[in-house]
Amino acid sequence: MSNRTNRTARRTEGFTESVIREMTRVALEHDAINLAQGFPDFPAPEVLKEAACEAIRADINQYAITWGAPRLRRAIAEKYRRFYGMEVDTDSEIVVTCGATEAMAAAMLALIDPGDRVVVLEPFYENYGPDAVLCGAEPVFVPTGDDGRLDVDALAAAFGPQVRGIIVNTPNNPTGHVFTREELEAVARLCTEHDALAFTDEIYEHIVYEGGHIPLATIDGMRGRTITVSGASKTFSVTGWRVGTIVAPSDLTGAIKKTHDFLTVGAPAPLQEACATGLERLDASYYRTLADDYRQRRDVLYHGLLEAGFRCRQPRGSYYILADFSGISDLPDGEFAAWLTREIGVASVPGSSFYSGPGRGRTQVRFAYCKRLSTLEEAVDRLRKL
Ligand code: GLN
Repeated sequence: MSNRTNRTARRTEGFTESVIREMTRVALEHDAINLAQGFPDFPAPEVLKEAACEAIRADINQYAITWGAPRLRRAIAEKYRRFYGMEVDTDSEIVVTCGATEAMAAAMLALIDPGDRVVVLEPFYENYGPDAVLCGAEPVFVPTGDDGRLDVDALAAAFGPQVRGIIVNTPNNPTGHVFTREELEAVARLCTEHDALAFTDEIYEHIVYEGGHIPLATIDGMRGRTITVSGASKTFSVTGWRVGTIVAPSDLTGAIKKTHDFLTVGAPAPLQEACATGLERLDASYYRTLADDYRQRRDVLYHGLLEAGFRCRQPRGSYYILADFSGISDLPDGEFAAWLTREIGVASVPGSSFYSGPGRGRTQVRFAYCKRLSTLEEAVDRLRKL
């Protein structure tokens, strides 16, 4: 091939391959328990599975309207009203995407210009950096406290005229922190003062153990400048369905709809119907059980990790534990995670993939506990060998 043929776009040089997805491959190779990539090993609710089969049999197998099947958009609007008292217009304020991943990417591509700056709170879910780079923007990383709490002074120092937006992820992957009203108000103050947008990834909104999830869009002054991303993956345990959602003010959704349309046309039509059924039919007890079950899983893994010699905090939301292994090994995080997968049979994600530079991630790995209790007990058993 000529130099021109085998040259890739320069923007792809701004990021590396996803370490989270890579660790799933490593786990498979060594037949290890995969606590790396966050996807459930237990079944999705029967009502959703039935609805998906029914939709396919009813021949709902062609493209839905690009920004979402009307029935699903109505169910999403109803969800935001029911849980958060938010009024959302079904036609002009919702975009259904291929997972929260496409939602974040499409929204950012639609609203961020090359040369803009985007604030990313660190540690962060590894897609956000590449999302910013794909927009030609410059990510500005702002460290949070060890427990994931917002450092308001550091955040204020990062804001400036070039900052077009901030990415907020609550409940947080990987820290398990759930942003308090005070923290969200601090974000809101800065966004308002600097006329910046907020891209908020709220995919773990129903996996909260204390208090409740507060959407950033419900904070004073934020509804008109917040792009709220969520989806079915975590709430209904269907990460492979790729159904994500965006709620944003109508003056922003026009550009998001176009970007989404040209990227993917639309999310899978029969699965959109099934997600609508889930939103319509599952009642408060489903959401309570979801969080209660996750609390049990969290407790098993958290105590198991402490017993094995890791240092970690009990998450308040989401389904990850970021654990410090410096009491167990001196290896750097990537080598430690590889060793743990190979020799102990438990896969995790190297900590540095959640940080922009070397440093804090060097002695950390992330474990996901979206697994059956029996899977977690087996993992904890294996970790005892440490
Ligand atoms: N959010 C999940 C994680 O952090 C899975 C993301 C993905 O691989 N799409 O592991």
